[in-house]
Amino acid sequence: MYYNSIIETIGNTPLVKLNKVTKGIKGTVLAKVEYFNPGNSVKDRMAVKMIDDAEKSGKLKPGGTIIEGTSGNTGMGLALTAIAKGYKCIFTVSDKQSQEKINILRAVGAEVIVCPTNVAPEDPRSYYSVAKRLSHEIPNSIYPNQYDNLSNTAAHYETTGPEIWEQTEGKITHYACGVGTGGTMCGVSKYLKEKNPQVFALGLDTYGSVFKKYKETGVFDENEIFPYMTEGIGEDILPKNVDFSLIDAFIKVTDKDAAVMTRRLAREEGLFVGWSCGSAVFGALEYAREHLKEGDVMVIILPDHGTRYLNKIYNDTWMKDHGFLESRDFATAKDIIQ
Ligand code: PMP
Repeated sequence: MYYNSIIETIGNTPLVKLNKVTKGIKGTVLAKVEYFNPGNSVKDRMAVKMIDDAEKSGKLKPGGTIIEGTSGNTGMGLALTAIAKGYKCIFTVSDKQSQEKINILRAVGAEVIVCPTNVAPEDPRSYYSVAKRLSHEIPNSIYPNQYDNLSNTAAHYETTGPEIWEQTEGKITHYACGVGTGGTMCGVSKYLKEKNPQVFALGLDTYGSVFKKYKETGVFDENEIFPYMTEGIGEDILPKNVDFSLIDAFIKVTDKDAAVMTRRLAREEGLFVGWSCGSAVFGALEYAREHLKEGDVMVIILPDHGTRYLNKIYNDTWMKDHGFLESRDFATAKDIIQ
């Protein structure tokens, strides 16, 4: 038995019970570990779907170029899809992204253009604007636009949602997921709520992002926007893939709480995952501590792998420099013996 190309191995990722970080919490907390996808992230699923749909609609023709503004993981999924189907890729990324992510994209043959982070989305230098401009200038190219392309949500409605429903045998009561483009959150939530409207959908957001305030007040508040470090979640725009009616509540998580929880997932659960996984678990457990009852089943999406963050949150010196590690976490064997 074999797969015809690497992209056929996307999906069917495992659900793994969290055993240590959940101490004191009632019910069962399960993690959907998306780094088992070939591009090591949840974004492989929607990358293939966006390209399949662009082919079907005739927008993407053989030998074409895929141009996208991506924080890295979508780029990886698109690059693998492009290799399997014979397209070229150009990605624009913001300069806060890990060097590892950029190197990985170049390793799989993509051209990567680094753009400044701290400019407004409509600024011509932003990674959104540069991607759009290139797609107008380069013939036979498409700009999938993961933010507003509803193939993104559809991918999770068709794959991630049904997998979670089947893996929990319909027993899921709570679903928690970080929100960036909103595709994962809303595609899965739509599927689960159709199966059982009682399933509670919790969105995890960052400080510096507009989502939580918008959900609670209906106001797009620019005062909520400021630079933050967690990669992949939170936005300074409202992407079309975020359907607020499918998200019951948001919790915001700080860069530090997310980083510390990510390191705990690696050391205590053996889940060597990315930074936004710590955001998702920290926020979900905050909710679970108060609301989960015996018999409840919570599923948390863990979007990507830890290798991409080795020089950041998995580096003790970097953590200390950012004030994210307490001195007791930094103690050496020598300190303890003394
Ligand atoms: N975490 C990481 C590391 C990501 O790359 C992304 C994608 N932006 C997300 C979380 C959020 O997923 P989504 O775009 O489906 O909301």
